[in-house]
Amino acid sequence: MSIYISGIGVSKGIAIGEAHLIARETIDVTKETLPASEIRAEIRRFKRALKLANSQLHDIKKKIAQNTADDILVFIDTHLLMLEDPAFDEGTIANIKRFSCNAEWALQIQGERLVQVFDEMEDPYLRTRKDDVLHVVKRIQTALLGQSEDSENISYKGKIIVADDLTPADTIMMQHQKIAGFITEYGGPLSHTAILARNLGIPAIVGLHHARSLIHRGETLIIDGLAGTVINSPGKKSLKYYRAVRRDEIAKRNLLNELSGKPAITLDGKQITLHGNIDKPADIRTIKKYDDTGVGLYRTEMLFIELNQWPDQQTHLKTYKRAVKALKGKPLTIRTMDLGADKEIQDTIDHGPMAHNPAMGLRAIRRCLKEPQDFMPQLLAILRASAFGPVRIMIPMLTSTNELTQVLALIEDAKEILKKKKIAFDKKIPVGAMIEVPAAALAADAFASKLDFLSIGTNDLIQYTLAIDRIDDEVNYLFNPLHPAVLRLIQMTIDAGKKAGIPVSMCGEMASDTSYTRLLLGMGLEYFSVQANALLEVKHIIVNSKINNLQDEVKQIMQIHDSDEITSRVQQLVNLL
Ligand code: PEP
Ligand code: MG
Repeated sequence: MSIYISGIGVSKGIAIGEAHLIARETIDVTKETLPASEIRAEIRRFKRALKLANSQLHDIKKKIAQNTADDILVFIDTHLLMLEDPAFDEGTIANIKRFSCNAEWALQIQGERLVQVFDEMEDPYLRTRKDDVLHVVKRIQTALLGQSEDSENISYKGKIIVADDLTPADTIMMQHQKIAGFITEYGGPLSHTAILARNLGIPAIVGLHHARSLIHRGETLIIDGLAGTVINSPGKKSLKYYRAVRRDEIAKRNLLNELSGKPAITLDGKQITLHGNIDKPADIRTIKKYDDTGVGLYRTEMLFIELNQWPDQQTHLKTYKRAVKALKGKPLTIRTMDLGADKEIQDTIDHGPMAHNPAMGLRAIRRCLKEPQDFMPQLLAILRASAFGPVRIMIPMLTSTNELTQVLALIEDAKEILKKKKIAFDKKIPVGAMIEVPAAALAADAFASKLDFLSIGTNDLIQYTLAIDRIDDEVNYLFNPLHPAVLRLIQMTIDAGKKAGIPVSMCGEMASDTSYTRLLLGMGLEYFSVQANALLEVKHIIVNSKINNLQDEVKQIMQIHDSDEITSRVQQLVNLL
């Protein structure tokens, strides 16, 4: 009899294959008290285990380096960095000395301490990094027992792996053996293993508790990585159905791949600009995997977060030059830092007693204008990077033209400094603004008259228009890009740009969601900046749309007051050619 079970789908796709259960031994760590004379030897044993774990990871990297993109190898590097971090090394050695205990125990309590640090972090992505700590602890514990964690000698081809948890290294090694998919009992959508599965295109389900008791070795499984469902021992009808779905998926993927490198032109001949969003220069490789295109949003605050401080001019410049070089002549839109709200570093700014609502606080350009001397290195570096390829400056969170006047004056100051020092930069560097606060959308014509481009940040525009904290799960259900107020603000911005003769893009998540592509085309949007993995799907809709046929219908949609009715009319746009 077949049964249906479900977990969290983290990487879409249908996989059909034989279940391969991985029963990893849990390492039982008990405390052993050692005599003082054995402490030095125990420390040496721990260092040997660290070295072994390190060389195992280097070996894996060597084995896969040739056929693996750098953005995948980086997951192994994260574990290598953790292995080399004094928090593991010195912390564990200090525990061995302090408690006169065995290395396994000393490492265990050090691991728990680090897990607690990550657990207390507010950022859900950083909180998930505790999984990496646990993986690294397990690898060293296994090495202390003189064992190897890696299973490259077992054949996994075409199998669906069912495990308690998988490390990123496991996932990469298994992908090399062409596994069909995987299911884990633990983990969440932000774990590195889940992110990797998405990058590698492996259908995957995580958080399926007791999977290894519910599923038996050798059983046939069907997994749906989008819905998060598993059917074990499926009947003939289910197999037939899911094989057909999988065939369609593969055909669609091949069709999308054919669009790579082709222009995004609608059926009635309108050329649409389609760029990607990045957080760091290395993300350009991911963009290039899908399409040879430029960057419409580079979120530079990630550089601040990595360093946990405001970078100096040289660090900014080195990073931006790397991005410009990687783009080989395609445009790079550098957004000045947007720290604050959900993206924070421990800086020295006094946020005052009322900073309970950081999304409305000293965020992004407000913070830069408060500390112009700290902002200047970034402006200088962006200008200097523009000497090496097409660069645009984009300002986040502008609310009033008064702020814009101050920013433009600072940019002029930066240009003067460079001119005096005879340092090259693009004298005509385009300067644009994100429209992500309702006030800016309502006054978009005023901004458009002073700028070279506008870019609609729907993530914040929706948050501020509908008064919904975008990171608060409790009100997530109210987050609605199709609320008539949101649509009107988007329309006002597009129209203001058209009137002023400047381009208007959209770089918020709404641009990456193909259910809105036709609506946006009908509203007159001609520039989309999307997540790398949405590039070809959005292009597919663009090249199969006729803007002339969409405009009248979209005009009518803009008159509707009820969100549900808008949603159903937007869904029907799919049926229009
Ligand atoms: C947005 O607000 O839509 C946007 C693109 O910026 P971020 O998500 O970085 O706030
Ligand atoms: Mg924003």
